[in-house]
Order: sequence, then structure tokens, then C-alpha cells
Amino acid sequence: MSLRAPRSTGTRGGWLNRPMESMSDQNLYDFLKRGFPVDPQAPCMILPGGAVLTYGMLDEESARFANLLTALGVTPGDRVAVQVKKSPRALFLYLGSLRAGAVYLPMNDAYLAHEVEYFLADAQPKLFVCRPAARAMADRAAAKASVSHVLELGDDGEGSLADKAFAQPAHFPQSLGGGDDLAAILYTSGTTGRSKGAMLSHRNLAVNAEVLHRQWGFRPDDVLLHMLPIFHVHGLFVATHCLLLSGGRMFFEPKFDARRALALLPGATMFMGVPTYYARLVLEPELTRDLCSKMRLFVSGSAPLSIETFDRFEALTGHTILERYGMTEGGMFCSNPLEGQRRAATVGFPLEGVSVRVAAQNCQPLSAGQIGEVQVKGDNIFRSYWRLPEKTKEEFTPDGFFKTGDMGKWDADGYLTIVGRSRDMVITGGLNVYPSEVEAIIDTLPGVYESAVIGVAHPDFGEAVTAVVVRSSDEQGAALTESAVIDFVKKTLANFKVPKKVHFVTELPRNSMGKVQKNILRDKYGPHSAIGCKL
Ligand code: AMP
Repeated sequence: MSLRAPRSTGTRGGWLNRPMESMSDQNLYDFLKRGFPVDPQAPCMILPGGAVLTYGMLDEESARFANLLTALGVTPGDRVAVQVKKSPRALFLYLGSLRAGAVYLPMNDAYLAHEVEYFLADAQPKLFVCRPAARAMADRAAAKASVSHVLELGDDGEGSLADKAFAQPAHFPQSLGGGDDLAAILYTSGTTGRSKGAMLSHRNLAVNAEVLHRQWGFRPDDVLLHMLPIFHVHGLFVATHCLLLSGGRMFFEPKFDARRALALLPGATMFMGVPTYYARLVLEPELTRDLCSKMRLFVSGSAPLSIETFDRFEALTGHTILERYGMTEGGMFCSNPLEGQRRAATVGFPLEGVSVRVAAQNCQPLSAGQIGEVQVKGDNIFRSYWRLPEKTKEEFTPDGFFKTGDMGKWDADGYLTIVGRSRDMVITGGLNVYPSEVEAIIDTLPGVYESAVIGVAHPDFGEAVTAVVVRSSDEQGAALTESAVIDFVKKTLANFKVPKKVHFVTELPRNSMGKVQKNILRDKYGPHSAIGCKL
């Protein structure tokens, strides 16, 4: 493969300094396995009770699952849908699915019956793995979608899936599929409209794993504190792939818990979390430099990290959080540097191998300081949404860049800042207001814990800038008024950006990855204007 030269047009990144085909043509499991320690007894996962699972066990258990899938008639390309709690066996099932050439389809365990029915009907998997408690619902949904098999996997690894796998050989001779074959379908969070299934190949996932592992300096002696869910790109791909590629070990926890994190941090070197985890950690009086003395890197992503949390975390621990940016459709696109300055409220530079541009409506790259849509291209980017060729076409530019729907801007030094989703942009009196700019000001007002800014239909302005504020739990919070918020913003921002209305709430609605669900706020505080704001 020839090296691609960086573009001179304002597109950043895209430079590969070494050939990638050797890694990315492989089955993803075989690629990850290249990082496993030679000794099969080497520890891979440390469970909450202290039990240690080795790399040898991971290899054997995932082989049993691969054999079971094959025995059930799952052939390469068949989907395996999974809605279970996070557990070691759930991870082994993912790896077994890769080895068998199946297409892994993880679902948020919070999804309700009608949502599961939608995913099964859309993806038509051969096998659906559910929790034992959800069996009746699973059978109904599976029958409607003509799913051939339903098996159970309980929170402690029990159930028919494990029983059947136990009878299978612990060796899977030859992984099936790789390269451009599909490895997974991940449904997007779908805060507007129906979720779409992003089709990710072995190559998409392998190249992103390789670059993250290298650029974040993962090492065999690393210990990752893994508290993220494994139905999402962050916990399943980013965290797990980096760790497995390094041959290190991880504290594999069922979920995030701030007190539990404090107990485990002294034995860890790496941590990945969504901003909510960090916002909760800084409230813990026991979070100190001493506690984090072995830590090498804290990574944040999946939603914007506030400057307050970034600064507070640094003051308490001496660690500068590394913020990165990406999405389901392609893994990670940008990261602050491991070496060099990590800047608050930025997501750093394009990763090696990823071309990133901030583009005007005509797709021309914009220069530093100008806001436009973030568009990305690279071997990590998905090819298509499952069974939605027309929708897919709309989401790519004629020159092959994926339109992320995020608005961003470069600074003079090449750091990218995400200013929000294009559909969250407020157009008031014909002028664009980026909510993150207003939120950042409101958040500095004493008495404010956090805020979200939305557009609400207005007869005169089209949309009115509207703030939804969570008060802090101190006296300043108790005394905070609507006019205090409005007057404060007036002092800093142009008048058209000042909220016309402030609503106080006890908490902001967030999804499981910590993203504020602005669609819920818009529904609550007034119909969103029909003014189009998507590029
Ligand atoms: P998901 O596909 O669920 O991972 O969501 C991807 C979306 O999360 C992106 O398109 C962004 O809108 C948002 N996102 C991810 N990382 C960041 C970040 N560091 N800062 C701001 N937004 C982010």
C-alpha cells in the first residue's frame, strides 16, 4: 500500500507512516491476539471478588463460543444479537463471535421490548442471547423476527448459552473472515428518529485499535480500570481492544461506581470514562494525588468534558485528562496528545490515518476559528448503515468523507473543538448560536452546577435561546435566579446569544453514555422550530 500524502487544503491528518494491510486483512481476534502475552497463565481480567481470568482462559472460552455458534448453524455474516449485563462471558461471546465470522450486535440492556423487537426485525439475527429474566419477552420478539435460536446468559455467566458452550472444544482451529467482512453492527443512540445500524468491518476496528493503542502508549504492564458498558464503542472497542492489544490486565467491573473506582485506582495505570464519571469523581473528598500515583493516563470521551471538571481533576490528582472524540460510525477520530499539551475543551488532533476537515456547506475546508461540520475519512470509518443505502449516501460527501453531524472549529495550533451537534444549533433571528458557547459561560456562574442550552420555537425569532440549569447544592445555588443567569450571560456574550428564558431542574436527562438528551428538553420546554439546521 502506498503512503497517502497529507492534504494541503485544510484537511488535517490522513498521514499513515506505515503500511496497515498486514494487520487489517486479518480476523480482528487474531489481530488482537498478537498482543496477548506468550504465557497463557498471564492475567487478563481481575473480577470484583478478586478472581483472576487468564489470557489462556479467554482464548479457550472464546473458542468454545465460536464452536457453539458454528454448531448452531451461524455462518460467516450471520448476526448474533446480544442483550445481557456486562460480564466476562459476555466479552468472551463477543470474541467468539469474531472468531466464527459472525456479526456481533450488542444492545443496551436498558432497551425495552418494543426496542428489542425493532432491532431484531431490522437485523434478523440467527441467534439472540438474552438474560434469563427476559426470556419470555425475548421469545416473543424472536418469533416475530424469525430468529432461529434464543439462548440465555445470566449476570453471573449462568444459563443455556454457557451450558451448551461447555460441551464444545476449547480450541477453534481457524478464525473465519476478516478484512472487509463485517465484525459488528452497532445501532446509533438515535436521539432523533430511528436508530441506524452502523456496519463495522474487522479492518475498521483493527486499524482504530492499533492507532489508539500506539498513540496512547499502552504497555504490557498496564492495568486498565474498565467500568464502561460493553454494548457501546467506548467500552467494547476502545477500552477492550487497547487493553488486549497491549497484553495488560484489567479490573473488569460491572459498572461505574465512584467509591469503587477510588478503591481500585491505586492498583491501576489507565482509566477511560465518560465525562459524568469524572464529574462524580471530583466530588469525592478522597480523590487525591496519592490515590492516583500509579496512574499513567485518564481518557475522557463520548460527550463534552467541561472545563471545570478538567481543571478540578487536574488540581486534585495532578493528572491532565486526555479528551478524545469519535462516534459509533468509525471509532475514534481525534485525540489530545499523550506527549505535549492536552487542551481543555478540545479533542486534540486527528489520529494517524484519519483525515478530518471542518467544512462549509459546500464541503470546502474552513480555516482556523471558523465553525463548520466535522467530516472524516479513513480506514476506520464504516461503509454503510445496515439496509439503508439511501440514508448512507446522504451521510457521505461526493469525495468520500463521512458527515458526522457535529459542528467544530480548529484553533490556530490545530486542536479541534466540538461545539455541538448541528441539529442542536439554535437559529435565532437568522443568527446561529452554538449552545456550548453559552453553556460554558453559564457554567462559570457561582451557584450553577451544570446547564444545557436549547432552541425553543418563538413567533418572532424563529427559535429562542433557552437555558436549562441545575443549581449547585450550596447557598449560592439556593439563591440563584433566572435574572441572575440572564444578566451574567449579557455581560459576556452578544445579546442574541443571551437566553430568553431559564428553567431550573434538579438534573439533566442523560443517556447511558452521559450525553445530555436535548431532544427530551426540547419536547419538554416547547416544540423545536422547524428551521433546518443540519448541513
Ligand atoms: P456515539 O456514537 O454514541 O459514540 O456518539 C458520538 C457522538 O458523541 C459524537 O458525534 C459527538 O457528538 C459526541 N462526542 C463524542 N466524544 C465527544 C467529545 N470528546 N466532545 C464532544 N462530543 C463528543
